Amino acid sequence: MGKKSSKSVRDLLFGDLWEYATAPQSSDFVDIKDSYGHYIGGEFVDIGEETFTTSNPATEEPIAEVALGDEATVDKAVKAARKAYDKTWSKMPGRERAKYIYRIARMIQEKSRNLAVVESIDGGKPIKESRDIDIPLAAAHFFYYAGWADKLDYAFPGASVNSLGVAGQIIPWNFPLLMAAWKIAPALATGNTVVIKPAETTPLTAMMLAEIIDEAGLPPGVVNIVNGMGETGAAIVNHDDVDKVAFTGSTQVGKIIQRAVAGTGKKLTLELGGKGANIIFDDAPIDQAVEGIVNGIFFNQGHVCCAGSRLLVQENIHDEVIEKLKRRMSTLVVGDPLDKNTDIGAINSREQLERITTLVDAGVDEGAEMFQPRCSLPDTGYFFAPTIFTDVTPSHRIAQEEIFGPVLSVLTFRTPDEAVKKANNTPYGLACGVWSDKGSKLFRIAGALESGVIWGNTYNKFDPGSPFGGYKESGFGREGGAHGLLPYLEVR
Ligand code: NAP
Ligand code: MG
Repeated sequence: MGKKSSKSVRDLLFGDLWEYATAPQSSDFVDIKDSYGHYIGGEFVDIGEETFTTSNPATEEPIAEVALGDEATVDKAVKAARKAYDKTWSKMPGRERAKYIYRIARMIQEKSRNLAVVESIDGGKPIKESRDIDIPLAAAHFFYYAGWADKLDYAFPGASVNSLGVAGQIIPWNFPLLMAAWKIAPALATGNTVVIKPAETTPLTAMMLAEIIDEAGLPPGVVNIVNGMGETGAAIVNHDDVDKVAFTGSTQVGKIIQRAVAGTGKKLTLELGGKGANIIFDDAPIDQAVEGIVNGIFFNQGHVCCAGSRLLVQENIHDEVIEKLKRRMSTLVVGDPLDKNTDIGAINSREQLERITTLVDAGVDEGAEMFQPRCSLPDTGYFFAPTIFTDVTPSHRIAQEEIFGPVLSVLTFRTPDEAVKKANNTPYGLACGVWSDKGSKLFRIAGALESGVIWGNTYNKFDPGSPFGGYKESGFGREGGAHGLLPYLEVR
């Protein structure tokens, strides 16, 4: 295997015949400002003197200066959210709230091209993913929860429900607009008001969402967006007048937040990291499974909390699967996020690239066998080639720690029980995939996996109607579906 792969399989099969011409998405129509403040109480405000820069990870060029919210800024936002909650939003009938939420959904659709381009510029993800996945799903989330706003009395039969008040929400950089939608849509549908902080490397689509919310005419203060860094997030978490905290990000920060919230009476949901197992049985449709493996780990550069970052393949099909996987990896296009052919765009930040490199070096040091297809990475920007490790054992760091990059660790198993034991051998419990021709096997394995989401013969499928969330160190609480209403309601 080692010898063969020194010349890329793509070369062996196609020579240079199948190089794609570039297919750039134009970006001159998007209007990105030089600086952004916050959106508080229905106004775009610039408070304080401190700022930070958001840049384009594919070019390393600065894009805009962004205001860094401090405790006083967060306090203004929480006060605006409280006022809006007391005076308008909590009193408004659900059918009226729904109209606003539908309007946001439709406006996201109308501005989808602009949002997709800015998402790719600010965060590095391929335009075909922001265009076909992130932005449509963000709109779908608002549509879905708009539908619940006037039906809350029927959501949990026999129970009556109340909104909570002000929700403080903190989101990561891997799906910037989509995570904002996952947080804001259910909060608004249930009658709560919001103070949300985008991640520091990807604040731009959140500010475009602020423009949409403003144009949609939401009462001032219903949604407040405060830009900033970790300390800004902490100020939201620790604010006395926040009733509910919703956080998506790393397990490390999740634990800090859990400690901070303990004993305060604030309701908390945590969506944290993962180390998902993608389990391939020997009776699986192999070619489809290979597509599922690629989608599971290389989608969004592997910056996916539910990524299938551990491949568990049945021993007797290991060589066939790995050979097909290497061949498929050799066809992946890595490079400019704004090129419509690109499969793997830029790593979100220099820090994240360093984290990935450190863990990949650890994999090599610990003796796993690394494979990367031959691909030329751009000279500037943060890029990492798609990578797989074979000969991985469960004790390797690359089998235990979340890499959050385009790096797959391959392990083998012989029996279904061994597959389950190995899949569950992780502190996390967010997502798994199971590939088998047999429905009964699929359901039995799914029942034994300690994982919030389990995909059967597919991977990374998202739908607003389907709940998402974790067990163990992947957090608690669900987003999506009727389950996703619960964290924002008091149910009696
Ligand atoms: P992170 O460092 O935990 O940051 C997440 C968010 O929290 C960011 O907005 C961050 O601000 C903010 N933050 C940082 N320190 C804080 C503190 N002490 N108090 C309050 N807020 C704080 O994670 P990340 O590096 O952005 O994202 C990667 C991680 O998120 C991965 O581990 C991934 O698995 C996880 N993730 C989970 C899900 C899920 O649904 N379960 C989804 C996506 C990502 P700054 O941006 O300024 O640092
Ligand atoms: Mg950026």
